[in-house]
Amino acid sequence: MTEEHPAGTPAAPSTTDLSNANAAAVTGTGTGEQWLARYKDSLMGVFGSPQRVLVRGAGALVWDADGKEYLDLLGGIAVNALGHAHPFVTSVIASQLSTLGHVSNFFTSPTQIALAEKLLELSQAPAGSKVFFANSGTEANEAAFKLARGHGGKERPTILALEGGFHGRTMGALAMTAKAAYREPFEPMPAGVRHIAFNDINALRDAMDSSVAALVIEPIQGEAGVRPLSAEYLQAARELTREHGALLIMDEVQTGIGRTGSWFAGIESGITPDAMTLAKGLGGGFPIGAIITFGEGPSTVLSAGQHGTTFGGNPVATAAALATLHVLESQNVLENVRTVSTIFAEGLGKVDGVTDVRAFGLLVGFDLAEDIAAGVVAAALDAGFIINAPRPNTIRLAPPLNLTAEQARSFLDALPALIATATAAHHAAATAATETTTEKSS
Ligand SMILES: *Cc1c(COP(=O)(O)O)cnc(C)c1O
Repeated sequence: MTEEHPAGTPAAPSTTDLSNANAAAVTGTGTGEQWLARYKDSLMGVFGSPQRVLVRGAGALVWDADGKEYLDLLGGIAVNALGHAHPFVTSVIASQLSTLGHVSNFFTSPTQIALAEKLLELSQAPAGSKVFFANSGTEANEAAFKLARGHGGKERPTILALEGGFHGRTMGALAMTAKAAYREPFEPMPAGVRHIAFNDINALRDAMDSSVAALVIEPIQGEAGVRPLSAEYLQAARELTREHGALLIMDEVQTGIGRTGSWFAGIESGITPDAMTLAKGLGGGFPIGAIITFGEGPSTVLSAGQHGTTFGGNPVATAAALATLHVLESQNVLENVRTVSTIFAEGLGKVDGVTDVRAFGLLVGFDLAEDIAAGVVAAALDAGFIINAPRPNTIRLAPPLNLTAEQARSFLDALPALIATATAAHHAAATAATETTTEKSS
């Protein structure tokens, strides 16, 4: 029997094969091994081989295609601010999507406006401050790059960025990213970017002249292994940029939105930048980026027609961000961030083989006595923990901001054994390498 539809309304597609209302109904199922073989044959190899195939998440837990459970202490790299499948965030997204999902930027929507207002409030932005929405961190930084160009014009072509800094993979953001291996294959870069020494006030003073349009900094470098700029450096950066008429651009893509236990790490240090970029945690897992310009001057650099985006600021992404901010605020999640941060800092400090701990809220970096971070990540996965090694001897944690004390302790309890496993594997590999060398030379 066919359903009846009012005249002119197309019949809905048969729901029998999609009644599951879940992508698995379309993808089918497979083991991790089967999926990874298909991945290898179909996905560009830029990420190397994925560690696991993840199929489901709830809070700080995720499950892989073989049914194994993990405590996610990386949170999609500081993205899943409220963990996976947060009921309020998902219901707001679903309800927005079924009400109004996308409109062009010839139009606006209440969620876009309300989110801009909320970000200006949380960042204590002065009168005249404005927001532009993008879809990712790198896009927010592209807007920052154009802001610097627009501000400096041809007379001021220089953009200063820091050694160790990471700002994204698109060309403008890439030009500001320090790591040569990321940039050099794709040269020529957009011109004008100079990298100066990290946290070195004298180097900054020397580099500052009338050719500088902007200084771009992360208050804490995440990709470099969780390395903070000193309060003195941030202060000097603010004063020197102001003195020379340059913009101070704060990249808070990783550190913003409660990650460090306050809404924004730079603002918490008492610094009001000229612009701040956001992304990762903002949408609670839904893609969105933003740049906030502080005060009238920076907010009027880019005029009508000078920048744009199709998807940026769409109703669903902005609703996701509003829902995320609402939960963070109404449930005192930032207080939890500070509490659990202390548990990590104290606990990690007591673990043998951990040589330095840098805990800023739930952005936590710790160093190991040897270059065994990759081995610790692998051992952790086997033991059911997702962590990350931004450097050969550094582990980074960026878990959901609502991680419980108990979940943090479960990792601390497991860590000594993970380090022991990785150390043993490291030494066995070193011994094997020595034997091979000896054989060859004999
Ligand atoms: C992740 C990151 C970016 C890039 O964000 P994408 O969303 O991956 O483009 C930029 N800056 C910082 C500080 C980041 O951590």
